[in-house]
Amino acid sequence: MARIAVIGAGMGAMAAAARLAVAGHRVAVYERTGTYGGAVRRFERDGFSFDTGPGLLPLPAVWRDLFVKTGKEPLESRVELVQVDPSSRHVFADGTEVSLPNASRAGVVAALDEALGAPAGQRWGDLLVRAREAWDRTRRPLLEEPLWPDWQVLAEREPYPAVPHKRLLRTRRAGTLAEVAAWELRDPRLTALLESHALAYGLDPRTVPANAAVLPYMEHAFGMWYVRGGLRELARAVYERCRERRVEFRFDTEVTGIVEKDGRVAGVELAGAEVAEAEFVVAGVAPGVLDRLAGDTVVRGAGGVPPQRGAASRVTVLLALRGGRPKGTAHRTVVHARDRAGELDSLFGAAPGAPAGPTVTILRPDDPGLVPGPDHEAVTLSSVVPSGADAEGGAERLVAVAEQAVPGLRDRLLWQEVRTPADIAAETGAAGGAVPAPALAAAGGRLLHAGNSTALAGLFTAGGWSHPGGGLPHAGMSGALVAGLVVEGPDFRGSQ
Ligand SMILES: Cc1cc2nc3c(=O)[nH]c(=O)nc-3n(C[C@H](O)[C@H](O)[C@H](O)COP(=O)(O)OP(=O)(O)OC[C@H]3O[C@@H](n4cnc5c(N)ncnc54)[C@H](O)[C@@H]3O)c2cc1C
Repeated sequence: MARIAVIGAGMGAMAAAARLAVAGHRVAVYERTGTYGGAVRRFERDGFSFDTGPGLLPLPAVWRDLFVKTGKEPLESRVELVQVDPSSRHVFADGTEVSLPNASRAGVVAALDEALGAPAGQRWGDLLVRAREAWDRTRRPLLEEPLWPDWQVLAEREPYPAVPHKRLLRTRRAGTLAEVAAWELRDPRLTALLESHALAYGLDPRTVPANAAVLPYMEHAFGMWYVRGGLRELARAVYERCRERRVEFRFDTEVTGIVEKDGRVAGVELAGAEVAEAEFVVAGVAPGVLDRLAGDTVVRGAGGVPPQRGAASRVTVLLALRGGRPKGTAHRTVVHARDRAGELDSLFGAAPGAPAGPTVTILRPDDPGLVPGPDHEAVTLSSVVPSGADAEGGAERLVAVAEQAVPGLRDRLLWQEVRTPADIAAETGAAGGAVPAPALAAAGGRLLHAGNSTALAGLFTAGGWSHPGGGLPHAGMSGALVAGLVVEGPDFRGSQ
């Protein structure tokens, strides 16, 4: 039995903690704020309740696996998972609308044909078939296995089988998601649909590699899920599972340094200069935080993939409305930007700033637990902004866009709360409130994340800033990979 210190009570770190405790180790989690979950928080006021982090869960299998491996009771006995149907409603720039059924390729093809006209559905369906190939090629190395020592193979090879495209007497294949959209979908609305999946993770579709097509594939193949009571309930369930496995939590306890002895990690230093000795340390924090804790030692990504930096952030507006949620309302509506190029230039151009007319995601959960009564509704609006952006005017911009899809929104408003990149930074410790994206192949490795082992023996990293990257399923997998590496050692080849 080893003593293991875990830095931060984010989802990736808690996933590692639960698994390590079950493997017989003595695990203590040190969290600088007063609660668990990191970005997965809840805002409550006057009987309304909102998720302030992710509002939907892709690939719940990752968290189901955690519950199976750490105890007899399945995840479903702790939280109620609801598949959202339709998976999303889209409102395009030209006013066309479509609602896409959850996890049904045939249903999506039919819905797109009907709303956009044939062969839109067929083109989208064919794209999903190619995206599946990219998924099959990368699922293990980009989700289920520790980062390969020869990660350059992943960095160089584009796994998406792009359709050959004749251009100026040359045959080319799409290298970016925007090229996939332009050459294989050939409809501005399908382009918006495809690109919105990258944008939702803060990625620029014009530069993100073609294999980002796995992001919509993941959603179509495995569905999108809601956790009754809000996603914070998943964090609570994971926290409780940790506690049942005797993981110790110390809240309001900041880790201020990593202690090293004889070339190996020896524990963590806590605010107040207390040292907690440990044979292994698992850091579930952003790269800038880990740099500070490790002093001058380059630990993460040394000799391998450097830590990903410069990810985008989010602005979120929580709306408490009078009047009940109309029957048949989609859980998620995406209102696409009217000026795609303008939005992308604002977000990813030379002088990044919040776009004037952003793509806005509207979440309207069908959950009586989130409202004071049936004649009220809790609605969340969110959009991507550059990390560190101030949210000046952000709420106004988002509400103006959302009104296109929710008529009368302003008239129903009781109050609103705006969550900014600074709030995210306060909750996670990530500079500028940056939110990490999932790992993707190709693009020279720019979208890979540093491996879970570090240059310092005994120090591992979990969470969205480590392989396999950000997002709830990926962070959950990082916890499984770290537990495997600690328990089985460097020869661990991934979960089976
Ligand atoms: C607004 C928003 C929307 C999102 N939307 C989605 C989405 O739609 N889909 C999706 O899959 N993902 C989404 N995410 C991302 C997802 O929430 C994270 O990737 C996931 O929760 C993984 O988090 P993590 O394990 O990296 O920990 P984090 O959530 O980053 O938590 C890190 C923890 O470490 C603690 N900490 C930091 N420094 C120290 C220190 N020195 N000592 C002690 N503790 C410390 C922090 O206080 C925090 O609790 C969203 C995130 C945000 C903020």
